[in-house]
Amino acid sequence: MSGLPVRPEIAAAEPYGAPHPDVPVRLNVNENPYPPPPEVVDGIVQRVRQAAEQANRYPDRDFTALRSALADYLAREAEVPDITPDMIWAANGSNEVMLQLMQVFGGPGRTAIGFEPAYSMYPEYARNTFTTWRPTQRGPDFAFDLARALRQIEHEAPTVVLLDSPNNPTGLITPLETVEALAEQTAGRAVLLVDEAYGEFRQPGTPSALKLLARYPHLAVSRTMSKAFAFAGVRLGYLAAAPELIGYLRTVRLPYHLSAITQATALAALDYAGLMLSQIAELRERRKRLASALGAMGFTVTDSEANFVLFGRFEDRHATWRKLLAQGVIIRQVGPAGWLRVSVGTEAETLAFLRALARTREELE
Ligand code: PMP
Repeated sequence: MSGLPVRPEIAAAEPYGAPHPDVPVRLNVNENPYPPPPEVVDGIVQRVRQAAEQANRYPDRDFTALRSALADYLAREAEVPDITPDMIWAANGSNEVMLQLMQVFGGPGRTAIGFEPAYSMYPEYARNTFTTWRPTQRGPDFAFDLARALRQIEHEAPTVVLLDSPNNPTGLITPLETVEALAEQTAGRAVLLVDEAYGEFRQPGTPSALKLLARYPHLAVSRTMSKAFAFAGVRLGYLAAAPELIGYLRTVRLPYHLSAITQATALAALDYAGLMLSQIAELRERRKRLASALGAMGFTVTDSEANFVLFGRFEDRHATWRKLLAQGVIIRQVGPAGWLRVSVGTEAETLAFLRALARTREELE
């Protein structure tokens, strides 16, 4: 022990991170399995070259061009035409965006709530911003329990409410009317963040929480380029909210937090948004087939609208996880005990997973 004066809650914690061994079939962190097409790579190289030529200068602190491109993209994707660049904020992954939100609206003596199971970083944002974390549970079958959520809001008086929809790890969407009820209940008291990291995978016709933005100045909707957009390596997440809320995020961000290289890379990908997103329908179809195949094997599978499914139940999920890994397939042990989460990969990866799982079952029986 070095005697470093570390905060006790940090000393007691492990750094976050899924195991990341180099195996042939990686279905553990909900990436898009398809790399960017060559035209996009060329577009990135061109834009990054221009940015590199001015790399002696600090980048545009307010990333004006990127905010415009993100506003246009969201307006099209969610069919919300009145999203303007001053309603957009971005950072290095939606993780950083949400941390910044917590820096503004959480803090010592304040409480944030969520609805578990939920994305496992939420308690860490709270810890890192000295915010008290008081989650409540979802209902049976992981469905969102509105009555319980409203009671938790009354009881805990949070200043931040975090809701991932589609939810990680179940993939379940919270219906827009439920989000609306939460927005009504929190108005004037808390910020409601709807984390739509997997939003683009929702069923066509399902409305995004972005539809509610114009009505609620305390609503923020975060998205990421890491998932459907097939850009996890770039680290670009963003959020849409009323301009006043965005103004406070500008106050806490570190100067020049988005590098010129990141801005250029994201802009290049947004030039080709159609191409970057072209595999979504295929991934959605494969998710359905994966869920049916797991169902046919006798598993219970969540009705996911993301690029993964949660399946169970296992008496010893770790035994299955380990045996899959031994066959070169990595999935994720996350969420409630008894369940495992698997991302939708390519056709070959998905089949390899299903074959390895069948073999695992035979071995464990
Ligand atoms: N929200 C949810 C629900 C997630 O699952 C993830 C990543 N696993 C994130 C946010 C963060 O993604 P990123 O920082 O890559 O944008």
